Amino acid sequence: MAAVAGVAVEPGHWIGGERVSAAGAFEDVSPIDERPIAEIARGGPGAVDAAVDAARRAFPAWSRTSREERARLLHAIADGVDKRVEELAQVETADNGALIRSHRRGVMPRVAHNFRFFADWLLRLGHEDFDTRGHINHVSWDPAGVCALITPWNAPLMLATWKIAPALAAGNTVVLKPAEWTPLTASLLAGITAEAGLPDGVFNVVQGYGAEVGGPLTAHPDVRRISFTGSVPTAKAIAAAAAPNLTPLSLELGGKSPLLVFADADLDLAVDLAVEQYDNAGQVCLAATRLLVESSVAGEFTERFLAKVAALRQGDPRDEATDIGPQIHRRHLERVGGFVRRAMDAGAQALLGGGPNEELGGLYYRPTLLTGAPEGAEILTEEVFGPVLTLQTFDTEDQAVAMANGTRFGLAATLATGDPERARRVTSRLVAGTVWVNCFFVRDLRAPFGGARESGMGREGGDWSFDFYCDVKNTVTAPWAR
Ligand code: NAD
Repeated sequence: MAAVAGVAVEPGHWIGGERVSAAGAFEDVSPIDERPIAEIARGGPGAVDAAVDAARRAFPAWSRTSREERARLLHAIADGVDKRVEELAQVETADNGALIRSHRRGVMPRVAHNFRFFADWLLRLGHEDFDTRGHINHVSWDPAGVCALITPWNAPLMLATWKIAPALAAGNTVVLKPAEWTPLTASLLAGITAEAGLPDGVFNVVQGYGAEVGGPLTAHPDVRRISFTGSVPTAKAIAAAAAPNLTPLSLELGGKSPLLVFADADLDLAVDLAVEQYDNAGQVCLAATRLLVESSVAGEFTERFLAKVAALRQGDPRDEATDIGPQIHRRHLERVGGFVRRAMDAGAQALLGGGPNEELGGLYYRPTLLTGAPEGAEILTEEVFGPVLTLQTFDTEDQAVAMANGTRFGLAATLATGDPERARRVTSRLVAGTVWVNCFFVRDLRAPFGGARESGMGREGGDWSFDFYCDVKNTVTAPWAR
């Protein structure tokens, strides 16, 4: 048992309703001070087999429970999360370095909401029957079986529960593999599901590295769905592993999203939207890291942006007053630094930041704004996943749209404009799973979420989640003889 931020966290896997230890362990390090905080069971093919087997055996009974019973249990899990918001927030902040204030007030309450939302959605899930000359087409959402869920480190419990809640609601059983840099809240969630009364084997957690756990899990022939959030290269490895079994995939991947600022925009709002892109120290898939600003307002925009960022406080994420915390890991900090160095070598200049925060040391990277990168430069096309934004200017709407669509990604796009007609024209031409107009990060679980191009495959949210996690069946019944 490890004590993290005063909270007891079990280091074992969670398989078949029991803690399972492993021969090996890996060290979990806090990004706040790079100190080890826990030794976590290191899974491999054996643990994966055991977890998939437990999930497979639990499936028949769980898949036959009534919708009402599943909804009741999901609400009980949400109650357990609500009771532990502070503990979960503390542990998540220690584990991934994101701000305690957002974990307390935003993220953990939304984790509970994820369970409540899909519980309630399940109860109203339905479809109109179609009558074909007296033959009735009845559509049902049959649970698919064992779901493998694989998640990243940037919003561990939030992203995991976006998948766990609909997968369980649909009547599936689950094997979750959390990211190796942030395994702790998944372990706490396992305890919460047990307390809520979820039957053994319905929810399982195997911890460990991608190649050692994720590889065998995604290649497993008894897995019926794979939902993955993470990077494009990993998604390609998963798609290859899933191919021999034709296991259906939902992929939520990286991005290089634009924020388009037109001269007719409310410039203060546009600046606020741009500053928001440093949230979570830039480690947000949806972040609009490319600021595309109409030339005539670029000077004014930049001035106001720099003034606003100067007021942000970087520091310990456990401090409620902190705005920007550390990067997740030394390897990640170095990767971010590498992008910025190569951009500057290619001709970019830093209007802000451009390196680690030497005063703070550790894993703190200064909020950075780069300009002057040549067209096609790596910094304008590849995902950095750190507090690094680029500034480019445009003169026409066509140019803005071409720049916005000019990467292999298509996760999100944000638009600041005061002209509704322009908003309609431009949004219809943007390639993105989500487009925000004069707002950012407004997310409704009823709406579809996912990415275009290399930002993903499939959509989750509302009915789209049930479409993915179910075998949708159409039953056609001939008129009964009188
Ligand atoms: P990653 O791809 O390195 O790892 C994600 C998960 O995949 C981890 O649990 C990891 O252990 C596992 N993994 C690694 N190799 C594997 C393999 N061969 N088989 C199976 N699983 C394997 O990503 P990351 O660095 O943890 O996360 C950052 C990335 O995630 C960024 O690209 C970011 O944009 C993306 N992301 C996307 C969304 C979204 O909703 N679209 C949300 C958050 C993060």
